[in-house]
Amino acid sequence: MRLRVLGCSGGIGDGGHTTSFLVDDDLLIDAGTGVCGLDIAALARIDHVFVTHAHLDHVCGLAFIIDSVFGHRRAPLRVHALPATLAALRDHMFNGVIWPDFTRLRSHGQPSLEFIEFDVGAVFESAGRRVEALPAAHQVPAVGYRVDAPSGRSFVFTGDTAACPARWDAVNRIPDLALLVIETAFCNAEADLALRSQHLCPASLADDIAALAARPALRITHLKPSDAQLTMEEVRAAIPRFDPLPLRDGEVFTF
Ligand SMILES: [Zn+2]
Ligand SMILES: [Zn+2]
Repeated sequence: MRLRVLGCSGGIGDGGHTTSFLVDDDLLIDAGTGVCGLDIAALARIDHVFVTHAHLDHVCGLAFIIDSVFGHRRAPLRVHALPATLAALRDHMFNGVIWPDFTRLRSHGQPSLEFIEFDVGAVFESAGRRVEALPAAHQVPAVGYRVDAPSGRSFVFTGDTAACPARWDAVNRIPDLALLVIETAFCNAEADLALRSQHLCPASLADDIAALAARPALRITHLKPSDAQLTMEEVRAAIPRFDPLPLRDGEVFTF
């Protein structure tokens, strides 16, 4: 199984793209601006999108993917997310005003877009891969994802989140956790903003991650472009034993 980072920035500018991870060719986790670099053929191979939450930096690409592949696919593009996330997409994006309601637009006799409710703890399996929704704590209903490869190795993406003890209960049950991608959206000077917007800063990351039992490779995501360097310096100082590195657009991991 291959994980390709299409976007992992907390914003745009300086070449950054917002959150989107491609698993093999057919599974997408979040659909931020990172998907904009894929060609039409690659976009058309995406069968399932697992959305962490409804914030625009994680879903804006959905509108453009379905528009670009309309007519190119024989099966619906399936979007898996919490009921509240799907309701937000329906009400505020695919509402016939901001964008057409592609769940009602048919292509080759099928709906072009299908919404599938996916609650915390739900498991999706395809071709020996397993995707499980994990708890998260954010301003809006949100999840993270655990993805298991056919090899038995796993990665976890926390999504946007503040400290979340329930996440670690689930993560600590994973037998072979190879990679943890965790957000740290703000530097310590913005700790108050991080708390109010339900994100992590290096200090709260250190408190939160103390509950992690395993020692996987650790990558930091969702860094604000303007403070990325400072935030990473603070992360390294806060949790040196985890040897944290910033996640990079274009990075590829195999499991
Ligand atoms: Zn968010
Ligand atoms: Zn975000």
